[in-house]
Amino acid sequence: MNSEVVTSSTTPDEQQQTHSTSAQTAKVPSDAVQKVNLLGMSRPQMEKFFEDMGEKKFRAGQVMKWIHQFFVTDIAEMTNISGKLREKLEKICEIKAPEVVHKNYSKDGTRKWVFRVGDGAGSLVETVLIPAEHRSGLRRTLCISSQVGCALDCSFCSTGKQGFQRDLTPDEIIGQLWVANYSYMEDVPVAERERSVTNVVMMGMGEPLLNYDAVLSSMTIMLDDFAYGMSKRRVTLSTSGVVPKIDQLVKDIDVALAISLHAPNDELRNELVPINKKYPLAQLIAACQRYIAKDGNESSRKHVTIEYVMLEGVNDQPEHAQQMIKLLKNLPSKINLIPFNPFPHAPYGRSSRNRIISFQKTLSDAGFVCTIRQTRGDDIDAACGQLVGQVADRTRRAEQWKKKVEQQNVIVRSQG
Ligand code: SF4
Repeated sequence: MNSEVVTSSTTPDEQQQTHSTSAQTAKVPSDAVQKVNLLGMSRPQMEKFFEDMGEKKFRAGQVMKWIHQFFVTDIAEMTNISGKLREKLEKICEIKAPEVVHKNYSKDGTRKWVFRVGDGAGSLVETVLIPAEHRSGLRRTLCISSQVGCALDCSFCSTGKQGFQRDLTPDEIIGQLWVANYSYMEDVPVAERERSVTNVVMMGMGEPLLNYDAVLSSMTIMLDDFAYGMSKRRVTLSTSGVVPKIDQLVKDIDVALAISLHAPNDELRNELVPINKKYPLAQLIAACQRYIAKDGNESSRKHVTIEYVMLEGVNDQPEHAQQMIKLLKNLPSKINLIPFNPFPHAPYGRSSRNRIISFQKTLSDAGFVCTIRQTRGDDIDAACGQLVGQVADRTRRAEQWKKKVEQQNVIVRSQG
């Protein structure tokens, strides 16, 4: 097989923009029959794959290490596998990450990629890597997408405005982690390659629990010692609140859970996060309590992270902080306040710094661990869905939104 990853030799410490084919592409052999992509296979799946070939299943661990620990995409380089087996594999397999069509490296260390998945011009997803100093050392947190667009239509979300197109496959999900790690080692010899991404949050485009099987399979690869070997505390699934799937998740895998809450009462949450109409707050909080109760002593399930985007004049008032205190009083939780990152024609503004600090103080005084997310990568549109929104506005919803806002302004002006 002559599959080979080609990545542009850009300077990581400076802001860069690279478009289209100069970025990473996987060359597909001209005699290509439909080959099996090994990138998204979990260990049990790959063991079965080898057994079905009449091979020993321990080959799965060997191949997974080559792919996910040494970032090798050419089977010929897998030197602990016999030449005969390598030849056999080359005929039927490939190791192919999704194509990078755009990448930006910010001055503050934030990195962002737009991937093309599938054939449609608008089949784009994005991935953001945010570095941050932590008392345990430098953390590089990768925010991974799980769907092309999103059907849930949260009113403050750039991704929601692009509509839903399709679920990502496991190789497209784990491929985002593969590419982010590989971006630090393009020129590093195979034997010296080390993984750089320390944390993953399933918090990019899409609702991960609505693409359950593929997300579960990908997180299994993240935790596998033969692949990324990540700590379960460092893999977080973030959901807007698909309650039945939270209960399923607790049975299937042990990872950290985050909830995109964004509103402390049902009336406001119905407006901001419409899935709340189906699974209201009481059901959501109860599901979180069950998630923690399953393994209360396990460190990844000691608490739930509550994500709360701060929207000026919408959900940032003192009464909202008081409602949060009441809502979360029986749920071990850490609260993360997120300054809203406005996108073109967004119907909301970012709460002032003073307002956010005051909100935080109210929650901290009530005994909650409450942090404010540092805004990063403003120079590269690092918030979820923003860059894709610029690259392709598939549904023209932004235009429709703009018209609606303009019409409202006309009405307001005529009333004034
Ligand atoms: S916030 Fe998440 S769940 Fe809501 S529309 Fe955006 S991507 Fe979908």
